[in-house]
Amino acid sequence: MSEPKILVVEDEAPVRALLGVTLEADGFQVLEAADAEEAESLLEGDLPALILLDWMLPRTSGLEFTRRLRKDEMLREVPIIMLTARGEEEYKVAGLEAGVDDYVTKPFSTRELLARIRAVLRRAGSDGADIIEAPGDLRIDLARHAVTAGDMVLTMGPTEFRLLHFFMTHPERVYSRDQLLDRVWGRNAYIEERTVDVHIRRLRKAMETTGHDRLIQTVRGVGYRFSAQLTTA
Ligand code: CA
Repeated sequence: MSEPKILVVEDEAPVRALLGVTLEADGFQVLEAADAEEAESLLEGDLPALILLDWMLPRTSGLEFTRRLRKDEMLREVPIIMLTARGEEEYKVAGLEAGVDDYVTKPFSTRELLARIRAVLRRAGSDGADIIEAPGDLRIDLARHAVTAGDMVLTMGPTEFRLLHFFMTHPERVYSRDQLLDRVWGRNAYIEERTVDVHIRRLRKAMETTGHDRLIQTVRGVGYRFSAQLTTA
């Protein structure tokens, strides 16, 4: 297993660089983003073990970004440590309510920062939610952002990955296209319902070689269901 990856979201370049160097020196892999928008595009690829998020960012604040991440089926579990120059209680409470795991106040000591990161990672690790399994050896490894079926690695796009993750964590229930749009794409997405069909098709294709495409069942006139049983129906 490689070193945990940390996504640093900070608009001030010198602070961002300092954080990058500090974390890398401590054995972490580091992804850097200057704002929430850049962070979002990085999150499409590899899921980090933790997000170090500055409160004061241009356009989307750290608080707003936290709220968005916590609504996202795929990203809601990723721990967040907020960096803030504000020591005021009221802000901290707002952050904690939005789903921030911990705080580090700027200017921070490197030792304190690393200690808090390790503590949050330890807590997150104890959940054991990094790996999700379905029948027939189908596995999602969230930390590695990988889907495997037995020894086979199944290659798929980020949307298919999120879709599969949603299905595997919500088996045996029928979801309409509209519900899937809400839960997988998010409420802010302006996407037509037939887009769901396109991605379902791609997801099935990605799982075809191992026969796991059969886990995703079409329920006529309603939507789709992920079955926990490999039936031939
Ligand atoms: Ca800032």
